[in-house]
Amino acid sequence: MLIRNAIALGKAAGKALASLLYPPRCEICALPLAAGEYLCPKCEETAPRVEKPFCQVCSQPFHGLIEGEFTCESCKERKYHFSCAVAPYLSQGIVRELIHRFKYRNDFHLRHQLARWLCTGFEDTRLMDPKPDLIVPVPLHPVRYREREFNQAEELARLASKMTGIPFCNALERLRYTTSQTRFDREERMENLRNAFGIRKNTSVRGKQLILIDDVLTTGSTLEECARTLRAAGAGSVRALTVARG
Ligand SMILES: [Zn+2]
Ligand SMILES: [Zn+2]
Repeated sequence: MLIRNAIALGKAAGKALASLLYPPRCEICALPLAAGEYLCPKCEETAPRVEKPFCQVCSQPFHGLIEGEFTCESCKERKYHFSCAVAPYLSQGIVRELIHRFKYRNDFHLRHQLARWLCTGFEDTRLMDPKPDLIVPVPLHPVRYREREFNQAEELARLASKMTGIPFCNALERLRYTTSQTRFDREERMENLRNAFGIRKNTSVRGKQLILIDDVLTTGSTLEECARTLRAAGAGSVRALTVARG
């Protein structure tokens, strides 16, 4: 116990020392900040929110006047295995920049700011009713995992679980390596992803209300294939939450 306390004290002292030597600064403009902050209010204000009106299913913003709830043309045509995809921010400006730095430049500490943005999504009533049982990350293929050394969706999902108290469950795994999706149209992307995911051993999602987490929603194909896999395994419902949408 004494040793554990001493280690904890040492860690706290180390943190205090680090913040003395490297006081926190705004990630964008370098303005000095209070401990635990990553953005100054002025920079934070520039983060582009997804504003109403937007599609009730995929959260695609609609530019123009519209009253009440609506579903976009592409969601009317398609049936998804997730009931909605919530994204509080647009993948533009500082949101896009911080996600990129977190994913590709190893600014690992930025996960805290991104998780805060992600969790503002829980203000959306679509995610609160029915009450979510588990938070599930989109898995990363082992090859990509070795390259990057972390799964960005898993890191965000773990923090979101801590911040909301909704239990974390790493229910999905990648079974196949999929080639880059960028050259494909929607049907080719779905074909490329088919059966790319499976349920991990000793995991059950049967009857559970799930929140599926990823960093960015682009085409929705990955979320759709994950949701299809989870529903096939008996999940009661799947709702997706990403920091941003493309
Ligand atoms: Zn700033
Ligand atoms: Zn839509």
